[in-house]
Amino acid sequence: MRLLVTGGAGYVGSVVAAQLVEAGHEVTVLDDLSTGHENAVPAGARFVRGCITDPGDALDGVEAVLHFAAKSLVGESVEKPGLYWKHNLGGALALLDAMRQQNVGKIVFSSTAAVYGEPERTPIEESDPTRPTNPYGASKLAVDTVLTTYAGLHGLGAVSLRYFNVAGAYGAFRERHAIETHLIPNVLKVATGERESVSVFGTDYPTPDGTCVRDYIHVADLARAHLLALDAITPGEHKIYNLGNGTGFSVHEMIEVCREITGHEIPSVVGPRRPGDPAVLVASSAKIQRELGWKAERGSMAEIVGDAWGALSGK
Ligand code: UDP
Repeated sequence: MRLLVTGGAGYVGSVVAAQLVEAGHEVTVLDDLSTGHENAVPAGARFVRGCITDPGDALDGVEAVLHFAAKSLVGESVEKPGLYWKHNLGGALALLDAMRQQNVGKIVFSSTAAVYGEPERTPIEESDPTRPTNPYGASKLAVDTVLTTYAGLHGLGAVSLRYFNVAGAYGAFRERHAIETHLIPNVLKVATGERESVSVFGTDYPTPDGTCVRDYIHVADLARAHLLALDAITPGEHKIYNLGNGTGFSVHEMIEVCREITGHEIPSVVGPRRPGDPAVLVASSAKIQRELGWKAERGSMAEIVGDAWGALSGK
């Protein structure tokens, strides 16, 4: 298929673009490089530097869009909520308008577990309440609402994938954020010597070891779900799927895995809680397993951290 990948110079977008090219699709990447890297665009994909609000000829002849381009820092979204509404909701609306003008009726949307906020139960299912606790999650949820509306009223075919904690690397494609907030890359930066220690944000949560529990999913497994989602698009329907491994690991446990993989002692320093962090976030991915036949193939933490470390350290 002829496909447009917005945000395909970013972490998840570049891995999905690479898998799409490998599967024989004709891929155009549209990215403004505000946070992405041009050299993350896979060989074999056409690159257009530009903004989703003005896709220009990037949509010409395209049959479906995979939409990743977004702002994704929770802390920044609390400081600058307008930026998140403008980029994430405004950007998606502009993109959907351009798609309608060019009769592109299919979209896979990169959504997030942040739409659920503080969960009432674990693991979280897609039908559970969506009560985001920050503007990032709220802006992504708003796009989901738009997609449901457009599916019903305009016949759009849409699939939203709600990611839990994406980690690992796909070959050389890895997480490379200018501002790194995520746990695993920050822990590995201690092993490379870029940081002296890692901060543990709170040890007084109601969890077995007092640190937050998260559901880490390998970026290659996550990316593969996008190819299945693409095949599952049905005009007039908006399908929503969670994507995680279904098992939670604590901050302390993940630091321990990183110590084992890197052989570095990785000093940790206990700090205060990070505002807005729920104690436990674990996905039920039963729906995507049942309906699309997806399952995690690289679900072990050793593989996830090992691949992230391999891409970072060149080992
Ligand atoms: N975390 C931490 N130290 C860090 C980064 C993250 O203790 O330097 C914790 C964070 O509070 C959360 C977990 O690790 O409980 C995962 O955080 P991350 O930012 O990777 O993903 P999130 O779950 O917020 O999407």
